[in-house]
Amino acid sequence: MIKLATFRSRLIFYILLVSVFLSLSLGLSFWHTRNILLSEADQQLQRTSHLLDTYLVAERLELERYAGIVRDNLRIQEYMYVVTEIGAENAPLDKLYQQQFGWLPIDNRVLIDTKRNVISGNSISSIVSMAVLSNEPHSVRLQYINTPQGVELVANAPVYYLDKLLGHIIISRNYDTDKLRELESISKGRIFITDKNKVALSTIPSMIKSSLTDDMSSLSFMNDTFMLNRIIVDDSLSKDIDFYFGVSERRLLDNIEQFSKLILLIVAFGVIGILSLGILFLRDFDKPIKKLLSMTDEVSKGKLPVISKITPRNEIDSLINHFSDMIHSLREKQILISKAQQELETLTITDSLTELYNRRHLVEVFPKLQAQAQRDRSPLAAIIIDIDHFKVINDEYGHLAGDQCLVEFSALLRSHSRTNDYLFRLGGEEFLIITLGETTKGVHSVAEKIRKATEQTPIHYRDAHIHMTISCGVCVEYPTGDKERSLNSLLLHSDNALYLAKQTGRNKVVVHLHEDEHEQQIKQH
Ligand code: GH3
Ligand code: MG
Ligand code: MG
Repeated sequence: MIKLATFRSRLIFYILLVSVFLSLSLGLSFWHTRNILLSEADQQLQRTSHLLDTYLVAERLELERYAGIVRDNLRIQEYMYVVTEIGAENAPLDKLYQQQFGWLPIDNRVLIDTKRNVISGNSISSIVSMAVLSNEPHSVRLQYINTPQGVELVANAPVYYLDKLLGHIIISRNYDTDKLRELESISKGRIFITDKNKVALSTIPSMIKSSLTDDMSSLSFMNDTFMLNRIIVDDSLSKDIDFYFGVSERRLLDNIEQFSKLILLIVAFGVIGILSLGILFLRDFDKPIKKLLSMTDEVSKGKLPVISKITPRNEIDSLINHFSDMIHSLREKQILISKAQQELETLTITDSLTELYNRRHLVEVFPKLQAQAQRDRSPLAAIIIDIDHFKVINDEYGHLAGDQCLVEFSALLRSHSRTNDYLFRLGGEEFLIITLGETTKGVHSVAEKIRKATEQTPIHYRDAHIHMTISCGVCVEYPTGDKERSLNSLLLHSDNALYLAKQTGRNKVVVHLHEDEHEQQIKQH
């Protein structure tokens, strides 16, 4: 069972089916027409043979009648008597005959005596010698005789006078090639006259003397064969001479061959035409389908290809355009979604009031900073900042004022930090700066700068000038391999330093000293 999974294979299958159907129907019509041609030829053979037979019969009757007329003419009988019995000159007999019967449409005529001596007229000697004479009074004997001049239809009748047989009148009609040609032009076939089954007369000279096949149904000639139909000639007319009507098989076969060529041509053109149309259609159909398939494949893989619209010529083009619209709107939606996602991401990692990073982002970003510090073999520094007595500001000026202080302090932080620094709001009024590759001294001075700037920059809220101070705890450390411990240690140590700053009077920067630094400091003192 053939599987026709694609439209392409189905289309090819249908095209082949139509081609086979076309070839079969044309083949069938060829076979049918060939049979019609053959039976038509056979019918023509029968019909024309019949006509020819009728014609020959009519000709015989006519000749028989003419012979009878001459036989029964009293003056001819008297003159013949005078010539044969009394021995008179035969010239007046010739003259009389000419006068009386010169008009008869015959080819030969002769009057002979009982010993077959010619007494009037002239004739082919073989006719006189071969004629089977009839002595029956009032009778006419018909006969076909093959003479060197051609085949003759001969009629003879006994001439009696006063019950005495004087001789015979013999008349004949000649069948020569001209006559056959005349008959053939009407019958559209070939007429053969045979003598002992050999062609005695034909319009094709080279066929003379060729033999019929044993069954006498055909006659082969060079590279042609004639299908024959015998026109039966009574044995009494001639034992050996026959008439045949023949149709050339070659002509018939040529006709059929021509017809078969035409059919083959139609089949070839038809099949080529159908196949070309099919291929054109397939190409038209296949390309956009493949395009559509590859596009849907890309979409299924999560891509959104840019598809330019086309002027639609068919349904598939329209489908591609619809698909293009669909992808376009999908792409727009995707942009909106990724924007929203980005906003959401920003929201999750930033503090809404100050727009600094929140504590959650610290946990996320710290491993990267730590890895970079380790790669660079540089320290990580943390500055924890806490606004002093912020509760008092809230209490005195209100929560909104507190909020504004937080916002403006964040702006100050931003303006005093470098682009590579990470600024976080850890919660409430507590901030964190993480910076990479700074010495303790450098970080201390940054913190100090921020502290001073805060002290010197009052916040304007309504009519009030709110003065703020901050305490900072600083810690600088080389990170260890453990991320969590590193962060915890950094935060813990800077928080301890901040605690110390708060304990020792606020508005100051305290640096966390590691054990060795601490010992060094003690020694210096
Ligand atoms: P200290 O110098 O010891 O840090 O004293 P403090 O008053 O700053 O510390 P405390 O922890 O006692 O008070 C912090 C106050 O900050 C309490 C709280 O109401 C206020 N606060 C925390 N978050 C916000 C905020 O988002 N907006 C405002 N306006 N106030 C806040
Ligand atoms: Mg606090
Ligand atoms: Mg505080």
